[in-house]
Amino acid sequence: MAEILVLVEHVEGEVKKVTLELLTLARTLGSPSAVWAGPGSSADAKARLAEYGADKVYIADSAEVSDHVVAPKTALLAQLVSSASPAAVLVAATAEGKEVAGRLAIRTDSGIITDAVGLVDGPVAEQSIFGGGVNVHSRVTKGTPIFAVRPNATTPEASTGAAAEEQVTVTLSEADKAAKVVERVKQEKGARPELTEAAIVVSGGRGVGSAENFAVIEKLADALGAAVGASRAATDAGWYPHQFQVGQTGKTVAPQLYIAAGISGAIQHRAGMQTAKTIVAINKDPEAPIFELADFGVVGDLHQIVPQLTEEVDKRK
Ligand code: FAD
Repeated sequence: MAEILVLVEHVEGEVKKVTLELLTLARTLGSPSAVWAGPGSSADAKARLAEYGADKVYIADSAEVSDHVVAPKTALLAQLVSSASPAAVLVAATAEGKEVAGRLAIRTDSGIITDAVGLVDGPVAEQSIFGGGVNVHSRVTKGTPIFAVRPNATTPEASTGAAAEEQVTVTLSEADKAAKVVERVKQEKGARPELTEAAIVVSGGRGVGSAENFAVIEKLADALGAAVGASRAATDAGWYPHQFQVGQTGKTVAPQLYIAAGISGAIQHRAGMQTAKTIVAINKDPEAPIFELADFGVVGDLHQIVPQLTEEVDKRK
Protein backbone atom coordinates (compact mmCIF):
# COMPACT_ATOMS: atom_id res chain seq x y z
CA MET A 1 0.00 0.00 0.00
CA ALA A 2 1.20 3.52 -0.78
CA GLU A 3 2.99 5.18 2.12
CA ILE A 4 1.54 8.49 3.39
CA LEU A 5 3.76 10.66 5.60
CA VAL A 6 2.05 12.55 8.43
CA LEU A 7 4.04 15.19 10.31
CA VAL A 8 3.23 14.83 14.01
CA GLU A 9 2.34 17.98 15.96
CA HIS A 10 3.31 17.48 19.58
CA VAL A 11 3.66 19.63 22.68
CA GLU A 12 5.59 18.39 25.69
CA GLY A 13 5.45 14.85 24.38
CA GLU A 14 1.70 14.91 23.83
CA VAL A 15 0.33 14.26 20.36
CA LYS A 16 -2.09 16.98 19.29
CA LYS A 17 -5.60 16.09 18.15
CA VAL A 18 -4.99 17.41 14.63
CA THR A 19 -2.38 14.67 14.09
CA LEU A 20 -4.97 12.01 14.94
CA GLU A 21 -7.26 13.63 12.38
CA LEU A 22 -4.49 13.53 9.76
CA LEU A 23 -3.80 9.86 10.49
CA THR A 24 -7.52 9.13 10.08
CA LEU A 25 -7.52 10.89 6.69
CA ALA A 26 -4.21 9.28 5.68
CA ARG A 27 -5.76 5.83 6.10
CA THR A 28 -8.16 6.60 3.24
CA LEU A 29 -5.16 7.25 0.98
CA GLY A 30 -2.78 4.46 1.97
CA SER A 31 -0.56 3.31 4.81
CA PRO A 32 0.17 6.15 7.28
CA SER A 33 3.70 6.74 8.56
CA ALA A 34 3.96 9.28 11.37
CA VAL A 35 7.01 11.54 11.38
CA TRP A 36 8.16 12.68 14.84
CA ALA A 37 10.53 15.64 14.78
CA GLY A 38 12.61 16.21 17.92
CA PRO A 39 12.88 14.49 21.31
CA GLY A 40 9.96 13.41 23.50
CA SER A 41 8.51 10.43 21.63
CA SER A 42 7.42 8.44 24.68
CA ALA A 43 5.99 4.92 24.53
CA ASP A 44 2.57 6.44 25.25
CA ALA A 45 2.86 8.89 22.37
CA LYS A 46 3.92 6.15 19.96
CA ALA A 47 1.07 3.92 21.16
CA ARG A 48 -1.37 6.74 20.47
CA LEU A 49 -0.06 7.15 16.92
CA ALA A 50 -0.41 3.39 16.37
CA GLU A 51 -3.91 3.46 17.86
CA TYR A 52 -4.95 5.98 15.19
CA GLY A 53 -3.51 3.96 12.34
CA ALA A 54 0.21 4.72 11.99
CA ASP A 55 1.86 1.63 10.51
CA LYS A 56 5.27 3.18 11.04
CA VAL A 57 6.76 5.98 13.11
CA TYR A 58 9.89 7.73 11.86
CA ILE A 59 11.68 9.39 14.75
CA ALA A 60 14.34 12.07 14.42
CA ASP A 61 15.11 12.20 18.14
CA SER A 62 17.52 15.12 17.99
CA ALA A 63 17.25 18.37 19.94
CA GLU A 64 18.73 20.14 16.87
CA VAL A 65 15.50 19.41 15.00
CA SER A 66 13.27 21.12 17.54
CA ASP A 67 15.75 23.80 18.62
CA HIS A 68 15.70 25.48 15.23
CA VAL A 69 12.64 27.06 13.67
CA VAL A 70 10.70 25.21 10.93
CA ALA A 71 13.59 24.43 8.51
CA PRO A 72 14.79 21.20 10.22
CA LYS A 73 11.29 19.71 9.99
CA THR A 74 11.31 20.54 6.29
CA ALA A 75 14.75 18.92 5.94
CA LEU A 76 13.52 15.80 7.74
CA LEU A 77 10.45 15.47 5.52
CA ALA A 78 12.48 16.18 2.36
CA GLN A 79 14.91 13.42 3.35
CA LEU A 80 12.02 10.97 3.89
CA VAL A 81 10.35 11.99 0.61
CA SER A 82 13.59 11.10 -1.12
CA SER A 83 14.21 7.80 0.72
CA ALA A 84 10.64 6.48 1.13
CA SER A 85 8.96 7.93 -2.00
CA PRO A 86 5.60 8.41 -0.25
CA ALA A 87 2.39 8.89 -2.23
CA ALA A 88 1.60 12.07 -0.25
CA VAL A 89 2.70 14.18 2.71
CA LEU A 90 0.13 15.54 5.18
CA VAL A 91 0.75 18.40 7.59
CA ALA A 92 -1.65 20.40 9.74
CA ALA A 93 -2.68 23.73 8.21
CA THR A 94 -1.41 25.61 11.24
CA ALA A 95 0.91 28.61 10.92
CA GLU A 96 3.98 26.38 11.33
CA GLY A 97 2.54 23.48 9.32
CA LYS A 98 1.83 25.69 6.33
CA GLU A 99 5.36 27.08 6.43
CA VAL A 100 6.83 23.58 6.56
CA ALA A 101 4.57 22.52 3.67
CA GLY A 102 5.54 25.52 1.52
CA ARG A 103 9.25 24.99 2.09
CA LEU A 104 8.91 21.26 1.41
CA ALA A 105 7.18 21.95 -1.88
CA ILE A 106 10.13 24.09 -2.98
CA ARG A 107 12.72 21.56 -1.79
CA THR A 108 11.06 18.60 -3.46
CA ASP A 109 9.82 20.48 -6.54
CA SER A 110 6.29 19.35 -5.72
CA GLY A 111 2.78 20.72 -5.83
CA ILE A 112 1.05 21.81 -2.64
CA ILE A 113 -2.56 22.36 -1.61
CA THR A 114 -3.20 24.32 1.58
CA ASP A 115 -6.27 24.71 3.77
CA ALA A 116 -7.79 21.41 2.64
CA VAL A 117 -10.97 20.52 4.52
CA GLY A 118 -11.04 16.94 3.27
CA LEU A 119 -9.04 14.37 1.33
CA VAL A 120 -10.21 11.52 -0.85
CA ASP A 121 -8.37 8.80 -2.65
CA GLY A 122 -6.57 10.02 -5.72
CA PRO A 123 -5.25 11.79 -3.76
CA VAL A 124 -7.66 14.69 -4.18
CA ALA A 125 -8.02 17.57 -1.74
CA GLU A 126 -11.26 19.36 -0.98
CA GLN A 127 -11.25 23.09 -0.28
CA SER A 128 -14.25 25.16 0.68
CA ILE A 129 -14.43 28.70 -0.70
CA PHE A 130 -16.82 31.65 -1.01
CA GLY A 131 -18.35 31.25 2.41
CA GLY A 132 -18.70 27.52 2.02
CA GLY A 133 -20.81 28.00 -1.12
CA VAL A 134 -18.35 26.28 -3.45
CA ASN A 135 -16.29 23.14 -2.90
CA VAL A 136 -13.18 22.77 -5.02
CA HIS A 137 -11.50 19.43 -5.61
CA SER A 138 -7.85 19.63 -6.61
CA ARG A 139 -5.11 17.20 -7.44
CA VAL A 140 -1.34 17.77 -7.38
CA THR A 141 0.18 16.97 -10.75
CA LYS A 142 3.86 17.44 -10.00
CA GLY A 143 6.20 15.69 -7.58
CA THR A 144 4.96 14.35 -4.24
CA PRO A 145 1.53 15.79 -3.33
CA ILE A 146 1.78 17.91 -0.18
CA PHE A 147 -1.44 18.71 1.66
CA ALA A 148 -1.88 21.15 4.53
CA VAL A 149 -5.16 20.08 6.13
CA ARG A 150 -7.17 22.30 8.47
CA PRO A 151 -7.74 21.16 12.04
CA ASN A 152 -11.23 19.64 12.53
CA ALA A 153 -11.41 18.48 8.89
CA THR A 154 -12.49 15.09 10.21
CA THR A 155 -13.27 13.33 13.48
CA PRO A 156 -10.34 11.18 14.64
CA GLU A 157 -11.20 7.49 14.48
CA ALA A 158 -9.15 4.85 16.20
CA SER A 159 -7.95 1.88 14.22
CA THR A 160 -5.93 -1.16 15.14
CA GLY A 161 -2.24 -1.26 14.62
CA ALA A 162 1.21 -1.54 16.05
CA ALA A 163 3.54 0.96 14.50
CA ALA A 164 7.03 -0.15 13.50
CA GLU A 165 9.67 2.30 14.64
CA GLU A 166 12.50 3.67 12.53
CA GLN A 167 15.11 6.09 13.83
CA VAL A 168 16.14 8.75 11.33
CA THR A 169 19.27 10.86 11.39
CA VAL A 170 18.57 14.10 9.63
CA THR A 171 21.42 16.01 8.07
CA LEU A 172 20.95 19.73 8.63
CA SER A 173 22.71 22.40 6.57
CA GLU A 174 23.83 25.70 8.09
CA ALA A 175 20.82 27.32 6.39
CA ASP A 176 18.50 24.87 8.17
CA LYS A 177 19.93 26.12 11.47
CA ALA A 178 19.69 29.82 10.62
CA ALA A 179 16.91 30.57 13.12
CA LYS A 180 17.17 29.20 16.65
CA VAL A 181 14.53 28.93 19.35
CA VAL A 182 15.92 30.88 22.30
CA GLU A 183 13.05 30.54 24.75
CA ARG A 184 9.73 28.76 25.14
CA VAL A 185 7.15 30.45 27.32
CA LYS A 186 4.22 28.35 28.39
CA GLN A 187 0.92 30.13 27.71
CA GLU A 188 -1.58 30.10 30.53
CA LYS A 189 -4.28 28.48 28.49
CA GLY A 190 -6.54 27.52 31.35
CA ALA A 191 -9.14 24.90 30.76
CA ARG A 192 -10.23 26.06 27.31
CA PRO A 193 -9.15 24.27 24.13
CA GLU A 194 -6.75 25.94 21.72
CA LEU A 195 -8.69 28.22 19.33
CA THR A 196 -7.60 26.67 16.02
CA GLU A 197 -8.11 23.12 17.29
CA ALA A 198 -11.38 23.55 19.19
CA ALA A 199 -14.42 21.60 18.02
CA ILE A 200 -16.64 24.48 19.19
CA VAL A 201 -15.82 28.20 19.09
CA VAL A 202 -17.95 30.95 20.64
CA SER A 203 -16.96 34.38 19.29
CA GLY A 204 -17.99 37.84 20.33
CA GLY A 205 -17.92 41.06 18.34
CA ARG A 206 -18.63 44.75 18.76
CA GLY A 207 -22.15 43.86 19.87
CA VAL A 208 -20.70 42.47 23.12
CA GLY A 209 -20.12 46.09 24.12
CA SER A 210 -17.18 45.96 26.55
CA ALA A 211 -14.32 43.88 27.92
CA GLU A 212 -16.35 43.01 31.03
CA ASN A 213 -19.25 41.80 28.91
CA PHE A 214 -16.98 39.18 27.33
CA ALA A 215 -17.65 37.19 30.51
CA VAL A 216 -21.02 36.33 28.91
CA ILE A 217 -19.24 34.82 25.90
CA GLU A 218 -16.73 32.98 28.13
CA LYS A 219 -19.50 31.46 30.23
CA LEU A 220 -21.22 30.00 27.17
CA ALA A 221 -17.85 28.76 25.87
CA ASP A 222 -17.10 27.06 29.19
CA ALA A 223 -20.54 25.46 29.32
CA LEU A 224 -19.90 23.98 25.85
CA GLY A 225 -16.21 23.12 26.40
CA ALA A 226 -15.45 25.61 23.62
CA ALA A 227 -12.72 28.10 22.77
CA VAL A 228 -13.42 31.83 22.77
CA GLY A 229 -12.88 33.92 19.64
CA ALA A 230 -13.38 37.59 18.84
CA SER A 231 -13.88 39.86 15.85
CA ARG A 232 -11.30 42.49 15.04
CA ALA A 233 -13.65 45.22 16.23
CA ALA A 234 -13.57 43.56 19.67
CA THR A 235 -9.80 42.99 19.75
CA ASP A 236 -9.01 46.48 18.38
CA ALA A 237 -11.20 47.96 21.12
CA GLY A 238 -9.04 46.11 23.66
CA TRP A 239 -11.98 44.01 24.88
CA TYR A 240 -10.29 40.71 24.16
CA PRO A 241 -6.62 39.81 23.41
CA HIS A 242 -5.50 39.89 19.76
CA GLN A 243 -4.38 36.26 19.86
CA PHE A 244 -8.08 35.29 19.88
CA GLN A 245 -9.00 37.29 16.78
CA VAL A 246 -10.70 35.22 14.07
CA GLY A 247 -10.42 36.33 10.46
CA GLN A 248 -8.19 37.40 7.63
CA THR A 249 -5.65 39.02 9.91
CA GLY A 250 -6.36 36.68 12.80
CA LYS A 251 -6.71 32.92 13.21
CA THR A 252 -8.47 30.59 10.81
CA VAL A 253 -10.81 28.18 12.53
CA ALA A 254 -12.86 25.28 11.14
CA PRO A 255 -14.78 23.92 14.13
CA GLN A 256 -17.83 21.65 14.09
CA LEU A 257 -19.82 24.54 15.61
CA TYR A 258 -19.13 28.29 15.44
CA ILE A 259 -21.32 30.67 17.41
CA ALA A 260 -21.01 34.32 16.36
CA ALA A 261 -22.56 36.73 18.86
CA GLY A 262 -22.78 40.43 18.02
CA ILE A 263 -20.68 39.98 14.87
CA SER A 264 -21.92 41.52 11.60
CA GLY A 265 -20.17 39.03 9.29
CA ALA A 266 -17.70 41.22 7.39
CA ILE A 267 -15.79 39.46 4.62
CA GLN A 268 -12.55 39.67 6.63
CA HIS A 269 -14.20 37.88 9.56
CA ARG A 270 -15.76 35.25 7.31
CA ALA A 271 -12.34 34.45 5.87
CA GLY A 272 -11.42 32.96 9.22
CA MET A 273 -14.54 30.93 10.01
CA GLN A 274 -16.53 30.20 6.87
CA THR A 275 -15.54 26.52 6.75
CA ALA A 276 -17.06 25.80 10.18
CA LYS A 277 -19.45 22.86 9.81
CA THR A 278 -22.39 24.59 11.54
CA ILE A 279 -22.64 28.34 12.06
CA VAL A 280 -25.02 29.93 14.56
CA ALA A 281 -25.44 33.71 14.53
CA ILE A 282 -26.94 35.83 17.29
CA ASN A 283 -27.51 39.40 16.19
CA LYS A 284 -30.12 42.05 16.90
CA ASP A 285 -30.11 43.22 13.27
CA PRO A 286 -32.09 40.80 11.05
CA GLU A 287 -30.29 42.27 8.01
CA ALA A 288 -26.80 41.51 9.36
CA PRO A 289 -24.73 39.76 6.63
CA ILE A 290 -23.74 36.98 9.05
CA PHE A 291 -27.25 35.54 8.58
CA GLU A 292 -26.43 34.83 4.89
CA LEU A 293 -23.79 32.41 6.11
CA ALA A 294 -25.46 31.04 9.23
CA ASP A 295 -27.13 27.63 9.42
CA PHE A 296 -29.15 28.85 12.40
CA GLY A 297 -29.87 32.46 13.28
CA VAL A 298 -31.30 34.11 16.36
CA VAL A 299 -32.46 37.72 15.98
CA GLY A 300 -32.22 39.45 19.32
CA ASP A 301 -30.06 40.95 22.03
CA LEU A 302 -27.10 38.71 22.79
CA HIS A 303 -27.11 39.88 26.42
CA GLN A 304 -30.45 38.14 26.83
CA ILE A 305 -29.96 35.20 24.49
CA VAL A 306 -26.43 34.07 25.37
CA PRO A 307 -27.07 33.72 29.14
CA GLN A 308 -30.28 31.81 28.40
CA LEU A 309 -28.37 29.52 26.07
CA THR A 310 -25.71 28.96 28.74
CA GLU A 311 -28.39 28.08 31.26
CA GLU A 312 -29.99 25.57 28.89
CA VAL A 313 -26.63 23.95 28.13
CA ASP A 314 -25.83 23.71 31.85
CA LYS A 315 -29.22 22.09 32.53
CA ARG A 316 -28.51 19.34 30.01
CA LYS A 317 -25.16 18.36 31.54
P1 FAD B 1 -19.61 45.37 13.55
O1 FAD B 1 -19.43 45.24 12.09
O2 FAD B 1 -19.74 46.74 14.12
O3 FAD B 1 -20.89 44.50 13.93
C1 FAD B 1 -21.42 44.44 15.22
C2 FAD B 1 -22.70 43.64 15.12
O4 FAD B 1 -23.20 43.44 16.42
C3 FAD B 1 -23.77 44.31 14.30
O5 FAD B 1 -24.23 43.43 13.29
C4 FAD B 1 -24.87 44.61 15.30
O6 FAD B 1 -26.18 44.46 14.76
C5 FAD B 1 -24.60 43.56 16.35
N1 FAD B 1 -25.04 43.91 17.69
C6 FAD B 1 -24.85 45.09 18.37
N2 FAD B 1 -25.32 45.01 19.61
C7 FAD B 1 -25.87 43.76 19.73
C8 FAD B 1 -26.52 43.08 20.79
N3 FAD B 1 -26.73 43.66 21.99
N4 FAD B 1 -26.96 41.82 20.56
C9 FAD B 1 -26.78 41.21 19.36
N5 FAD B 1 -26.15 41.81 18.33
C10 FAD B 1 -25.69 43.07 18.51
N6 FAD B 1 -12.35 41.62 11.16
C11 FAD B 1 -12.29 40.45 11.82
O7 FAD B 1 -13.22 40.08 12.55
N7 FAD B 1 -11.18 39.65 11.69
C12 FAD B 1 -10.13 39.99 10.92
O8 FAD B 1 -9.14 39.24 10.87
C13 FAD B 1 -10.18 41.22 10.19
N8 FAD B 1 -9.18 41.58 9.38
C14 FAD B 1 -9.30 42.74 8.66
C15 FAD B 1 -8.31 43.09 7.73
C16 FAD B 1 -8.43 44.24 6.99
C17 FAD B 1 -7.35 44.56 6.01
C18 FAD B 1 -9.55 45.08 7.15
C19 FAD B 1 -9.68 46.31 6.34
C20 FAD B 1 -10.52 44.75 8.06
C21 FAD B 1 -10.42 43.58 8.84
N9 FAD B 1 -11.41 43.23 9.75
C22 FAD B 1 -11.32 42.02 10.37
C23 FAD B 1 -12.48 44.16 10.13
C24 FAD B 1 -13.80 43.88 9.45
O9 FAD B 1 -13.87 44.55 8.23
C25 FAD B 1 -14.96 44.36 10.34
O10 FAD B 1 -14.79 45.72 10.61
C26 FAD B 1 -15.07 43.61 11.66
O11 FAD B 1 -15.09 42.23 11.43
C27 FAD B 1 -16.36 44.06 12.37
O12 FAD B 1 -16.44 43.42 13.60
P2 FAD B 1 -17.88 43.18 14.26
O13 FAD B 1 -18.67 42.32 13.37
O14 FAD B 1 -17.62 42.72 15.64
O15 FAD B 1 -18.44 44.66 14.37
